[in-house]
Amino acid sequence: MKLLITGGAGFIGSAVIRHIIANTRDEVVNLDKLTYAGNLESLAEVSGSERYSFEHVDICNRAELDRVLTQHQPDAIMHLAAESHVDRSIDGPADFIETNIVGTYTLLEAVRQYWQALEAQRRQNFCFHHISTDEVYGDLDGPENLFTEQTPYAPSSPYSASKASSDHLVRAWHRTYGLPVLVTNCSNNYGPYHFPEKLIPLVILNALEGKPLPVYGKGEQIRDWLYVEDHAVALYTVVTDGKIGETYNIGGHSEKRNIDVVQAICSLLEELVPEKVAGLANYRDLITFVTDRPGHDLRYAIDAGKIQKELGWAPAETFESGLRKTVQWYLDNLEWCKRVQDGSYQRERLGAGPAGVR
Ligand code: NAD
Repeated sequence: MKLLITGGAGFIGSAVIRHIIANTRDEVVNLDKLTYAGNLESLAEVSGSERYSFEHVDICNRAELDRVLTQHQPDAIMHLAAESHVDRSIDGPADFIETNIVGTYTLLEAVRQYWQALEAQRRQNFCFHHISTDEVYGDLDGPENLFTEQTPYAPSSPYSASKASSDHLVRAWHRTYGLPVLVTNCSNNYGPYHFPEKLIPLVILNALEGKPLPVYGKGEQIRDWLYVEDHAVALYTVVTDGKIGETYNIGGHSEKRNIDVVQAICSLLEELVPEKVAGLANYRDLITFVTDRPGHDLRYAIDAGKIQKELGWAPAETFESGLRKTVQWYLDNLEWCKRVQDGSYQRERLGAGPAGVR
């Protein structure tokens, strides 16, 4: 199978590509605009594979999408390209509307034209897998409730509203044009190669430098955490075995309050890096409560029963085992982090910019 993966230089996309190249015989075309969140250094271990290729393209550029589809003739699309950081969506929603909504629309139209022209057998086997988030469901009320595939959409932030819009477009292209689609909605991911603006890597790296560990409000927001390599396995399971037209929720069965996540990282660092910057007694002393994010949802939690029952997927990592692996990975890969933090990962990469980027 040849897979076209959009957003493959990002956190989850790169985990999916590393998983596919290491564990299957499939070919992968990575299509990515390389925004600040795209980092080809996360793909160093697969970039030499003859089954891997890269296309520096913006999903809003229809002509380039047509060229890539015609040239590479993929059997399936995994669509992960998105603007993904909630805080950035509050400061500047325009890029979220452009990439997540207009970009998904542009990709759907290019793929529809490509799929309609395929010969019968390939057309029959084709699928478009849209990767989305549990944030489209909004805040959960009641401690016992879980998001199911039937939960109505109620997004709170510009990010989640733009993802919700893209989910609706994908389902409409299935209902209206018959495009064979799959949709997955997943909870918060964590793990190796996570951009250091996100909570877990930010806390690890700030703690090592003796900087404040910012926690929104009182840190009582609850998220369901999933180790990114478990998500990669789930996504590959869905794209290969999922039933066309279906939605699958993916989660880690690991609900944690943000403050407990930060405390757990501090405990691991006390064990793994007991020698601290001068004057610091305990990593926990760095925890600093900051003004809460506007529109901040209190609780998300996924019922992942459908994917477990129908496709046999369940996470391999617990939160404890996954967090230990993650902290150790950051300690072992400080050079990757340094190159992200000082911007050198962007300065030294291919070319001046993707074709036709506006
Ligand atoms: P990320 O921000 O790390 O990566 C996004 C990638 O998309 C980057 O490589 C970026 O360069 C690329 N990109 C952005 N705009 C583009 C454009 N216009 N054209 C082509 N490429 C573009 O995001 P992530 O955390 O890896 O998330 C991937 C997907 O999974 C997103 O759709 C996100 O909504 C979804 N998701 C993320 C999480 C999470 O916890 N991170 C959870 C559930 C779902």
